[in-house]
Amino acid sequence: MSQQRPRIGVVGSSNVDVVTYVERMPAWGETIAAPRFEMNFGGKGANQAVAAAKLGADVVMVSKVGDDALGANVLANFAALGVDARHVGRVADQSTGTATILVNPAGENFILIVKGANGDLTPADVEAAAADLATCDLILLQLEVPLETVTAALEFGRRRGVKTVLNPAPAVTTLDRAMVRLASFVAPNETELAILTGLPVGSEDEVARAAQRLLADGVETVIVTLGARGALVASPAGLRRVPPAKVEAVDTTGAGDAFLGAFARYYAGRVGLDAALEKATRYAADSVTKRGAQKSYATEAEFERLVR
Ligand code: ATP
Repeated sequence: MSQQRPRIGVVGSSNVDVVTYVERMPAWGETIAAPRFEMNFGGKGANQAVAAAKLGADVVMVSKVGDDALGANVLANFAALGVDARHVGRVADQSTGTATILVNPAGENFILIVKGANGDLTPADVEAAAADLATCDLILLQLEVPLETVTAALEFGRRRGVKTVLNPAPAVTTLDRAMVRLASFVAPNETELAILTGLPVGSEDEVARAAQRLLADGVETVIVTLGARGALVASPAGLRRVPPAKVEAVDTTGAGDAFLGAFARYYAGRVGLDAALEKATRYAADSVTKRGAQKSYATEAEFERLVR
């Protein structure tokens, strides 16, 4: 009997990161030569979608790109990775979301974010994808698209009985508690947890208290990612630490997205909460041993060899 593949929906951002490596930062009005340039696919939504797809899930992406060349590249990337991009719209006279990044030899950077078409993803786009999203096991959400669209997707999940994961990143101070409560899982990193709760997170005890505050507010399950320290899960069953996998970190860009894409894929694969969190921790740890975000994500075959 063939096992059904987990089905993940993502309502979120698609970006292109445009990275120029410089010997020094230019001054205003100055033109300098730079040794190296790179373009990478990014956006928290797209990263999480790609991680889940590389791990063998069927992924439905609901997103917007511009009608520019970068938008065409984003669509080609989704096609190459098997992400269903039928609900990735192209916005006329709008640019694709970009992050323009300058990096100096010390690794310091300037980053300019243009949300572009990501700002045009609306609740109507969630409705237009309703038939496909309703067949998903889990929907992943972040905050790089308008809050009303995230809220619409959370409400959709409640209405149609589809579990949702809200990754409240990047952190915003104006999140409505009633909106956060709609999510089945809320998954912040420490900074986002502090901003979400207004509580300190300087020690393990403080992180635990802040996570428990979200539970007291009515959130079902809180997953806090703790970088090299692994993760913490708070649910009505209690608090549990998920220990990190010990690795030599090279580049942690997109580690949180790797974690959530993998968590979604395995949780939807019905391995249980604890096993899904362990897989996610292991998968994200592997991603930090390689440069970049999406390109550092292992395929299912590579990951299975690693954890065998
Ligand atoms: P980013 O914004 O860079 O995507 P984040 O702040 O959202 O990251 P983190 O908490 O830094 O997320 O990392 C997510 C997960 O990745 C952690 O819970 C952990 O499992 C894994 N991880 C990150 N850094 C390391 C590390 N140095 N060693 C092992 N695992 C790591």
